[in-house]
Amino acid sequence: MVPGVRLVLLGKQGAGKGTQCVRLSRHYVVPHISTGDMLRSAARSGTDFGRQVAEYMRLGELVPDEVMIQVVEHRLDQHDTKNRGFILDGFPRTVHQAEALENLLNPRGLDLVLDLEVPTEVVLERLASRRVCSVCGSIFGIDNPPRRGAICDNCGGELVQREDDTEDSIRRRLELYASSTEPLISWYLDRRKLAAVDGLGVPERVTSRLIRAIDNRRHQLPDVGD
Ligand SMILES: [Zn+2]
Repeated sequence: MVPGVRLVLLGKQGAGKGTQCVRLSRHYVVPHISTGDMLRSAARSGTDFGRQVAEYMRLGELVPDEVMIQVVEHRLDQHDTKNRGFILDGFPRTVHQAEALENLLNPRGLDLVLDLEVPTEVVLERLASRRVCSVCGSIFGIDNPPRRGAICDNCGGELVQREDDTEDSIRRRLELYASSTEPLISWYLDRRKLAAVDGLGVPERVTSRLIRAIDNRRHQLPDVGD
């Protein structure tokens, strides 16, 4: 069995990060920890914490650093992550969160932070072409176009564009991502933890590049394989 890993995957919306996290999580047999999924399921749970999260989401606000850090800390404290490792998706978003993560993981730290690079124009086209089934929620786009125009392949429902998938709002989200991620990327670069990986091409190809970057890094580290 391949040894576990401790990874963070960064990438703009539409870069294929979710798909790659799932593929890497199968390859290395480690949990894929998506903070977005965790927050959405917390919001549905009806607990005090869940209600708090639902309120941030309703107001369109980012969940404060301290809350996110607690959520991640709790998850990293479970058996599977302790034994095998993890792939973090959606965290850290800020340098403050990255510092907190480093403290949580002491003394071993992260193996690698991967930055999945896809040009803005490419993700813009991908996101702007996205259509969602108004009945079953299936998603279609450039890479998997519907067979019959604006009709869902799976249920025959009408395909619609999400309100926040207009070119302007996508561009705004991408700019926000770039400006908030830049300091994080330099922070990891300074600590020699960052590897940029080309995110263009079919998913299998991108996964091989990611695995190569991860395995190269592990062979360089003297303290892995414990
Ligand atoms: Zn459908």
